Amino acid sequence: MTEWVEATVVERRDWNDELISLRFEAPMEPFKAGQFIRVGLDIEGERIGRPYSLVNAPHEDLHEIYFNIVEEGPLSPRLARLQPGDRFWAVPKPSGFLTLDEVPEARHLWLLATGTALGPFLSILKTPAAWERFETIVLGHSVRRRSELAYGDTIQGLNEAHGDQLCFVPFITREPCGEHLGQRIPACIESGSLEEKTGLVLSPQDSHVLLCGNSAMLQDTLSVLEKRGLKRHRRREPGQVGMEKYH
Ligand code: NAP
Repeated sequence: MTEWVEATVVERRDWNDELISLRFEAPMEPFKAGQFIRVGLDIEGERIGRPYSLVNAPHEDLHEIYFNIVEEGPLSPRLARLQPGDRFWAVPKPSGFLTLDEVPEARHLWLLATGTALGPFLSILKTPAAWERFETIVLGHSVRRRSELAYGDTIQGLNEAHGDQLCFVPFITREPCGEHLGQRIPACIESGSLEEKTGLVLSPQDSHVLLCGNSAMLQDTLSVLEKRGLKRHRRREPGQVGMEKYH
C-alpha cells in the first residue's frame, strides 16, 4: 500500500494565472536532484495523486513543486488554491532517473526543458556536483509566452555564481521572441540556431543532453539529435541523450 505523509504549505508563488510554485514542509526521504514525488489531495472520497518534480536541491530545507493549472484536471486546480498553512499529501519516497549519477562523463551538459519541466533541472543546477563535472551547462527553456519564463531570479543567481559556465537559452514560441530563440527546441537544433546562440557544438564526443517536458518534445528532439549522431542513453548501452517520461 502507498505510504502518504502530510505536507504543509509554507509559501506560494504565482508566476502568472496558470503557473504556481508551492514550498512545503514534509517528512520526505532523502532524494537526488532531478527526482520527483507523488503529491495528492482527497477529492470526493478518493485520494488523487500525480507526480511532480522537486525544484529544491537535496540540501535545502523546504521542498518545492512547480506546476501549471490543467483546468480540466482533478488535482492541479485544487492544488493551486492552497495557501500557507494548508495541507496536502505526499509520498515520501522520491523516484526517477533524471539525475546526474545517470549521466556519463561529458564536457558539455545540455538541459532542455519545456514549460514546468524546468523544475528538475533547477534542482540539479543548485547542486555543487553539476558545476564540478561539466565545463559548460546549457539550460534551454521553451515556453509559449515570455510571462511563462519562471524562476528568472534563481537563474540570475546561478549566472552570478557560475558566470559563463552556465548558458541560459529561452525559447519563446507563440509571441515575438525579441533577442531569444523563437522556434521550438528541435527546430533550433536542426537549423543550428541553438548552437549559434551558445557557441557550442552538439556532438556525440563532447555533449550529454537531458530532456524533460511533454512527450512529443522528447520524441521530436531525440529524432533531430539522432540525425546528429547522438543516441539514447541507457545504462546497458551508453549514449548521449537521457530523458524521463512519467506522464
Ligand atoms: P508545453 O505545453 O510543453 O509548452 C511549452 C513549450 O513546449 C512551448 O514552447 C511549446 O511550443 C513547446 N512544445 C510543444 N510541443 C513540442 C514539441 N513536440 N517539440 C518541441 N517543443 C514543443 O508546457 P507544459 O504544458 O508546461 O508541459 C510541460 C510538460 O512537462 C508536461 O507534459 C509535464 O507533465 C512535464 N513535466 C512536469 C513536471 C512538473 O513537476 N510539473 C516535471 C517534469 C515534467 P509551441 O508553442 O510551438 O507549442
